[in-house]
Amino acid sequence: MDDEMLDSGTGKTNLLSRFSRNEFSFETKSTVGVEFATRSVKVKDGINIKAQIWDTAGQERFRAITAAGATGAFLVYEISKRQSFLNLDTWLKEIKDSADANILITLIGNKSDLKEKREVTTEEALAYAEKNNLSFMETSALDGENVNLAFQQILQQIYSILS
Ligand code: GDP
Repeated sequence: MDDEMLDSGTGKTNLLSRFSRNEFSFETKSTVGVEFATRSVKVKDGINIKAQIWDTAGQERFRAITAAGATGAFLVYEISKRQSFLNLDTWLKEIKDSADANILITLIGNKSDLKEKREVTTEEALAYAEKNNLSFMETSALDGENVNLAFQQILQQIYSILS
């Protein structure tokens, strides 16, 4: 399947840059290869962990990351593009096929700032998340809404499972 058709543009690169550097870019540039960032995150009083977060384009590279032992993943669609929501099944299958069975997955409805262009309701996304046992959050890498919270939440869950 053509990766470009699948998911590019949902905002993964900007979610990562917002979280790791508090930066946002209006430009579209496809992720070349694999990028990663680290950020230290407080998971509970007195305990900081260093999170390593990967951003990838392309199924082969994605497989390399999940096979290397990723413990959590964001599954990202954009609330203003129905097709990106319809593509979730394909990506969920991809994660399930290549990652550890216990991987924690958060469904992210990004671009929550584009409310007037919304094509996916919060309710149907929540239903999809519940059906597939995912956490769910709507975020905006542009205005920052829920970005820290989404990362913080999955990192705390990972920490409590691993500790
Ligand atoms: P990726 O291909 O999934 O990594 O997506 P990018 O992070 O490169 O973003 C694709 C396009 O969407 C860029 O033009 C970004 O500026 C824009 N974008 C990313 N996140 C948001 C967001 O939360 N709100 C809005 N309005 N645009 C966003």
